[in-house]
Amino acid sequence: MSDKSKKIGSYDKEFVWHPFTQMKDYEEKEPIVIESAEGSYLIDSEGKKYIDGVSSLWVNVHGHKVPEIDEAIQEQVKQISHSTLLGITNPPAAELAKELIDICPPGLKKVFYSGDGASAVEVAIKMAFQYWQNKGKSEKKKFLCLDNGYHGDTLGAVSVGGIDIFHKTFAPLLFETFRAPSYYCYRCPLNKTYPSCNIACADELGKILEENNEEIAAVIFEPYVQAAGGMIVSPEGYLKKVRDYCDKYDVLMILDEVATGFGRTGKMFACEHEDVTPDMLVLGKGLTGGYLPLSATITTQKIYDEFLGNYDEYKTFFHGHSYAGNPLSCAASRGNLKAFENNNTLEKLQYKIDYLEKELKEFEGLEHVGNVRNKGFMVGIELVQDKENKTPYKSNLKMGSKVADKALEDEVLLRPLGDVVVLMPPLGIEMDDLKKLVHATYKSIKEVTEDS
Ligand SMILES: *Cc1c(COP(=O)(O)O)cnc(C)c1O
Repeated sequence: MSDKSKKIGSYDKEFVWHPFTQMKDYEEKEPIVIESAEGSYLIDSEGKKYIDGVSSLWVNVHGHKVPEIDEAIQEQVKQISHSTLLGITNPPAAELAKELIDICPPGLKKVFYSGDGASAVEVAIKMAFQYWQNKGKSEKKKFLCLDNGYHGDTLGAVSVGGIDIFHKTFAPLLFETFRAPSYYCYRCPLNKTYPSCNIACADELGKILEENNEEIAAVIFEPYVQAAGGMIVSPEGYLKKVRDYCDKYDVLMILDEVATGFGRTGKMFACEHEDVTPDMLVLGKGLTGGYLPLSATITTQKIYDEFLGNYDEYKTFFHGHSYAGNPLSCAASRGNLKAFENNNTLEKLQYKIDYLEKELKEFEGLEHVGNVRNKGFMVGIELVQDKENKTPYKSNLKMGSKVADKALEDEVLLRPLGDVVVLMPPLGIEMDDLKKLVHATYKSIKEVTEDS
């Protein structure tokens, strides 16, 4: 190992506290130091190349070093890198807002910028809450969310989250919510089977709305894929059913597309699969193609109008982040959209998804693969001790991370969610690299699970 790598490694271990990482385990390993990248490959300080199998934690879209995004940022730096959006504007923020509205589902009209996904969720929660206050229906102040949901790590976002191991510790700090079951077909919380269930989990949500809609401001969930919850994929029709219930009971629908947005499920936004327009659409992660922090809460004219009034009516939305609408981030995001156009990213993706789905069928034959699920380029492979009874592995076996460690030997970088092995390659990945990624993952799962 070079002296430089050693130095970085020692600084890192001495001074950096890593997110979502048990530092005791981390301290025992040599850190991987990513120094550069090329397309779908990450390159470490020793020159070793890895396939970026989870898009740098779900943010990367076209690969790394995308000419359109590189150029957009370089051009913007020559103009200005930051100015506030409080009461004034800048060209990339305004132009991006227009471009986002052009590609968003019809009916969405106003873009509120923040820095990351969690902040954009906070915005949606506060906006929905205040909408009803401003409208004079101040009893509508609760939220309905889903088990296994994930919306980020700030306290509001955690309040509407449903992943016990992340969220339980903080329970005393959170506000109360209504909970609907997860659309988790493999382990159906209602013990039913799709399609004979007629999507009963959506009807459970409907029942909660029927009984409590007077108190409920909004429903918030991830359309089609509960990502951090384990790449849980909803059945076709769930989304439309929930939209209908929200309309029927006059409750706002917030769709968190921080993970599913920007082509990840095969369409630009997951809600397009069922032609559903939410009252608020939350975007982040892929918004800048995986370059810079930026998020957005996009809403309708109807909601926006409810915040208009004389200053002393205090209908203003008193919320904002210092770097909201940052010109560099917005320029990167415009470059991202340009790359979608220039490369026909979504058209080309379909072939890759077909290939991926064909290959994923093979995984089902593995002895310890209980369930393989995907929507487009979001894949979850759930490992189980015993396939027949769907018995999970004991968590101290860390089967998911063992598979990831194994894949590293084949120069593939993965990050599992517990015992769900996740594949989420950049949309721009070349076919050869996609094949390599899938084959290395298959081999790693087979070796790790059939060895023990
Ligand atoms: C990652 C994620 C978030 C949080 O985004 P951050 O930028 O990490 O704060 C919110 N919602 C969903 C669905 C996510 O996957």
